[in-house]
Amino acid sequence: MSIFAPKQILDIYTDLDIKGYRKKGFDTVLLDVDNTIAVPNTGACDERARQFIKELKENGFKVVIFSNNLKKRVKMFVGDLDVDYYYLALKPLPFSYLIACKMVKSKPEKTLVLGDQLVTDILGANLSGCYGIYCRRLQEEEGKSTKFNRKIENYIWRNVLHEKM
Ligand SMILES: [Mg+2]
Repeated sequence: MSIFAPKQILDIYTDLDIKGYRKKGFDTVLLDVDNTIAVPNTGACDERARQFIKELKENGFKVVIFSNNLKKRVKMFVGDLDVDYYYLALKPLPFSYLIACKMVKSKPEKTLVLGDQLVTDILGANLSGCYGIYCRRLQEEEGKSTKFNRKIENYIWRNVLHEKM
């Protein structure tokens, strides 16, 4: 299987089978922010994401907000949410995934990673031994660096994973 292949593809993060994954023994979720659970570079966590995080926690998941974005952006998103967070995560480098797991006393093999990018979120999940779940992006419009990543990603979908996205 390709190092870029997600374990599952979701149309939107709220489709995650929280109870099902908990039963399978997963206990931690690393959540990407921009275009996964929030429109890129918008403000605080919205009600839908807040509800999702609450449901994860109620089902026994430890949650880490896990973003490559800057401290300012991540703190703006987290606001008054009672969750751990990790900014400038340098995804796809695997060490930050391992540190994030350690932060909440978990292990990669028990950790789900939700993200909207193959070349950062999912690649890093696979490199670190976490379980990468691809979530289709919330909005089409994206920043410069993401646009570049998206070009690579589209190539991978077509030529490596042989899927039409
Ligand atoms: Mg993202």
